[in-house]
Amino acid sequence: MDLTSITIRELSDKLSKKEISSVDATKAFLKRIEETDKKIHAFLTVTPEEALKQAAAADKRISNGENLTPLTGVPISVKDIFSTKGIRTTCASKILENFIPPYDATVVRKLKDAGAVILGKNNMDEFAMGSSTENSAYFKTLNPWAADRVPGGSSGGSAASVAASECVASVGTDTGGSIRQPAACCGVVGLKPTYGRISRFGMIAFASSLDQAGPFTKDVTDSAIMLQTMAGFDPLDSTCIDAPVPDYTSVLKSGVKGLRIGIPKEYFIEGMDREIEEAVREALEVLKRQGAELVPVTLPHTEYAVAVYYLVATAEASSNLARYDGVKYGLRVNDTGSLLDMYKKTRDRGFGGEVKRRIMLGTYSLSAGYYDAYYKKASQVRTLIKNDFEEAFKSCDIIATPTSPTAAFKIGERIEDPLTMYLSDIFTISCNLAGIPGISIPSGFTKDNLPIGLQLLGKFLDEGTVLKAAYAYEQATDWNKKRPGI
Ligand code: GLN
Repeated sequence: MDLTSITIRELSDKLSKKEISSVDATKAFLKRIEETDKKIHAFLTVTPEEALKQAAAADKRISNGENLTPLTGVPISVKDIFSTKGIRTTCASKILENFIPPYDATVVRKLKDAGAVILGKNNMDEFAMGSSTENSAYFKTLNPWAADRVPGGSSGGSAASVAASECVASVGTDTGGSIRQPAACCGVVGLKPTYGRISRFGMIAFASSLDQAGPFTKDVTDSAIMLQTMAGFDPLDSTCIDAPVPDYTSVLKSGVKGLRIGIPKEYFIEGMDREIEEAVREALEVLKRQGAELVPVTLPHTEYAVAVYYLVATAEASSNLARYDGVKYGLRVNDTGSLLDMYKKTRDRGFGGEVKRRIMLGTYSLSAGYYDAYYKKASQVRTLIKNDFEEAFKSCDIIATPTSPTAAFKIGERIEDPLTMYLSDIFTISCNLAGIPGISIPSGFTKDNLPIGLQLLGKFLDEGTVLKAAYAYEQATDWNKKRPGI
């Protein structure tokens, strides 16, 4: 079996025809991880025993023909931000180094119920704060396309594991771009669904009004399959939307004839890499040739998005991360006996530099006397950004932009300069602030052979149209079929 190209759909087909068993497929991927992950470090934890047990159970389901889904027996991985019952879940932080959750996140439970085999937990930026996976407290993940480059972040391990064919698909989270930007950097498909489309229960919180889980896959069909499995109401998450889940795979093939694609002028800015701009403009032509109509739109408050995001996200993070105080979870540093001292030492030793920076920024903007000027103002501007999209969607069905202003950057290049790092997400952040769905799909390569991503944004809960347009583009190109020679 050729692991490097296989998709969920193809493997599922082979499994149902009994051309291969899930146990054998799982063993093949575990071997691939053993060989490849020495180089790219996409996994924080590999769980061969559990995976082989799940694979054996899947084989039983297949041979009984019971309860089959497109994911039954398919080996995948999940970002280490999802709680996994009995399996260490670190969020790439020292503060959770030995944390073993007593339950599964809803996303994990749904994937397991569908019969997926979970190979392990992916590396990430600590608490999902970052755009390069360099903020992991454990090690850096390398980009499978170029060992001196970052895989993007924060879900860099998930993106790299799919790109390097260490699994068929993976699951990450996206608060300001953490699925779409690493997908673009690694040349895979990354989907951030509508806020609330997928349950956040058991997903370690960074910024609760922005966080959303979503899949990394080799193609758009697989993205639809993963979304189908994970979406839907969950009484355990009060922000999860109680709306029916459409059949995403059935709309894929309906084409883009007459589809109006909005091109926001604010996203084609100076300072963007020329190669990126050219690739994206070429992608738009491809969609046009298939019958889509390109319409200029404007999102006038785009320039405030990064500032608004870094106020809202840090404020929510400072409050969410207050729970890590050495009492209930993970690390406790206690060598003096005083409670306050224990809190301080635990948090000092447990959190990395970027996480501390965010906690301080967030605490500051929420403090008395500053709240109105910062957090409240940011929330108001957030509404303006959301309104921009509503206005733009009156004249178009989806919006197309580059996913990221540059291809994968060099390891170490931005880590000393947080502001430059924050600007990596300039094109992905508004989507989270507005709560709408967005996808990044492979749309070319730079002359250095680094992948480029095209971002398509959709209306609230309209993942179907986003996937349909992405599928049409994918059919007309073969960027997603290229694999790194690792
Ligand atoms: N890079 C952004 C940040 O550092 C987004 C991260 C994310 O989406 N989790 O906050």
